[in-house]
Amino acid sequence: MPTFAYVCPPTLNDCLKLLKENPGAKPYAGGTDLMVKMRDHAVSPQMLVDLKKIDKLKGIREDAEGNIIIGALTTHAEISESPVVLEKYPFFAHACRWVGSQQIRNRGTIGGNICNGSPAAETLPSLYILDARIHLESISSTRTLPIREFFCGPGKTCILPGEIVTAVEIPNISVEFSGSYHRQGRRKVVCIAMVTAAAMWRQDETSPSGMRFSIALGSVAPTVVVAKNAENYLNECAVCSDDVIEHAAMTALKDASPISDIRTTCDYRNDLVYVLTKRCLKDIICGGRELK
Ligand SMILES: Cc1cc2nc3c(=O)[nH]c(=O)nc-3n(C[C@H](O)[C@H](O)[C@H](O)COP(=O)(O)OP(=O)(O)OC[C@H]3O[C@@H](n4cnc5c(N)ncnc54)[C@H](O)[C@@H]3O)c2cc1C
Repeated sequence: MPTFAYVCPPTLNDCLKLLKENPGAKPYAGGTDLMVKMRDHAVSPQMLVDLKKIDKLKGIREDAEGNIIIGALTTHAEISESPVVLEKYPFFAHACRWVGSQQIRNRGTIGGNICNGSPAAETLPSLYILDARIHLESISSTRTLPIREFFCGPGKTCILPGEIVTAVEIPNISVEFSGSYHRQGRRKVVCIAMVTAAAMWRQDETSPSGMRFSIALGSVAPTVVVAKNAENYLNECAVCSDDVIEHAAMTALKDASPISDIRTTCDYRNDLVYVLTKRCLKDIICGGRELK
């Protein structure tokens, strides 16, 4: 492990000031990605700025408009057990339950999962279909970015030097909707997914079926991708029959550009895109499983 300075400031301002003044510093949340990368010499920060004392970055709240704001330091365990998330978006709570083991879920945070920038990150497909917004703050500014504009490559995000993610916001959905998440790893638990998929419909009287679909796929491209071809096909169909689901799942292959790597082959990933998209669509169109 390379040597580094460790600081754990008491206020957000102190953290942001240190990050601005030390270009070699990195924010430290649960450390479950960062420590592994440091051990492997993939990154060598000169300073770790531990965010853990900043209460403002913790917890889940629902605002007056029904938007859910999840602090960046909220752990996967907290999200997966949160009554408000389970009530409104059970498929997202379900996604967080897939992360690593109980120990990893107790330490790993949503902010770290997003900022690590992995296309296999468990939370991302659900956050894409929910149109989540990322709240960012530096010592001199605050801004909000749609999650779909946040990533620029594997492990690469649009975070500027000195900036941190403070929260993830899930905008309220005021119409009827249904969502689902599926993933496949090499083992049942404690493994990074080979492919992830999330799908959702929202009530939309302007579309022929009365439903507007969103589908996102992970680990099949440099960043999570929106399955535009499959979405467009579904959004033009008047009925959602088994044949339509079948065709949509096949169409999702056009949206994926997987590679072969240590986890699996390109061909198997394509098979999984078809299978997982179909499972998600069956869940949301046929009523599906009870995830709560
Ligand atoms: C055994 C094991 C199993 C795992 N299984 C899974 C899995 O199944 N699915 C999955 O998705 N992940 C998995 N992970 C990866 C990891 O646990 C998650 O990505 C976790 O959410 C990372 O959060 P963290 O708080 O530990 O981030 P950290 O390791 O602290 O940070 C990760 C990166 O994000 C930056 N960062 C952290 N917080 C912020 C912030 N608020 N603002 C700006 N930058 C920030 C850090 O500087 C660092 O670059 C696994 C890891 C391990 C070790």
